[in-house]
Amino acid sequence: MSENTQAKNNNQEQNPENIEIFALATDPIYIGTGGYTIGRVDNTIVRDPITNVPKIPGSSLAGTWRYYTVLETLKDIKDKQPDWDEIKASEGSTIGEKLEKVDWKENPSEGWKAFPGNKIMKITCAGQDNIPQEELSNAPFATDRDGKTGHCGHCIVCKGFGFSKKDISWQGQIFFSDLNIIFFPVFTIKGTKWITTVSRLKEIKLRDIDSKAGKEQDDENLCFVFEKLAEDESVGHINLGWLYLPYKIENNESLKNNIQKILENLKFQVSFSLKDIIIVPDSLFSHIVNSNLEVRTSVSIDPITGAAKEGALFTSEAIPRGTIFYGNIRIFDKKVFEGIEEKLKPLPEKKQLCEALENSRHYYETLGIGGMTTRGFGRLKITSPNWKEEDKNE
Ligand SMILES: [Zn+2]
Repeated sequence: MSENTQAKNNNQEQNPENIEIFALATDPIYIGTGGYTIGRVDNTIVRDPITNVPKIPGSSLAGTWRYYTVLETLKDIKDKQPDWDEIKASEGSTIGEKLEKVDWKENPSEGWKAFPGNKIMKITCAGQDNIPQEELSNAPFATDRDGKTGHCGHCIVCKGFGFSKKDISWQGQIFFSDLNIIFFPVFTIKGTKWITTVSRLKEIKLRDIDSKAGKEQDDENLCFVFEKLAEDESVGHINLGWLYLPYKIENNESLKNNIQKILENLKFQVSFSLKDIIIVPDSLFSHIVNSNLEVRTSVSIDPITGAAKEGALFTSEAIPRGTIFYGNIRIFDKKVFEGIEEKLKPLPEKKQLCEALENSRHYYETLGIGGMTTRGFGRLKITSPNWKEEDKNE
């Protein structure tokens, strides 16, 4: 099996493994800042503090993916986990050793799901830890005042994504970058165009990409396109939302080639090609994105009467459907942590963690990310050049 994976992916020796990921917003995405009203909308979204461009923070990605990995695992193993009494009675001086000794009631369907610690995984391994003040050795069975368990500290999710207990804090083996916008849809008189910048394109690290291609525009207002927007013009003006900007045709072959490579690597259907892309100056990108966000007005419903609350109209901004993001995930193999604290053993292998992420990402397409997912926000397709093409349909 490991030979298969090696053939599929010749980055096998990288440690940490760097997985480039792309995401497509199939709904507007709302990740709120937590309640301040600034300017024109009530509910504002998270932005990069330096560029002021909206983004999906790595912490949101880590939180949701943790939850989806637990869902994906439990769906398969919940009736296969051995009883706790049997685990306690088995040989071994640590819980880790005991978990390796005791048998599953029935074997899980995939290798990574059979990670020994998953024998005690619970839904409460996701979300905030209900019992951070317990010792790790008590964590699998301790509960809070309401009888809720917390992070077990032993399953592939607790080991992979990290946990913190009274006697030990573990940062995990998987690290998520922010997802930054690389192609952003804007309505123009020539139809929908997707804007990006040279420096954003340079952030993307794929094989066969010339990372030096393209340079920042000298002219602060000039945009570049790759094909004529109208029959008889090679220079002209285009409106990007309410901004009206000059453009010219760019013939930089390596830049074109890079964009083609990126589009090929997206692995989801997009409704645009090279001719629909407009490169805008960095100084204008944030401006254009921020003035073309989706703004929606909603009504708060009184949960008791079921009617609209008086004065409860509120507005929310969101990243529009069709936006494409880029980011990366770093995964450390257990061999980096040789000589680690006995209590943390065994750790999952890099390959098991990669498979866990790959097998659980389909939940983004149904449950989504961020807020207002019950109002039609948040669904996302996430892919990677490293991952197999077919999506799981479950
Ligand atoms: Zn756990």
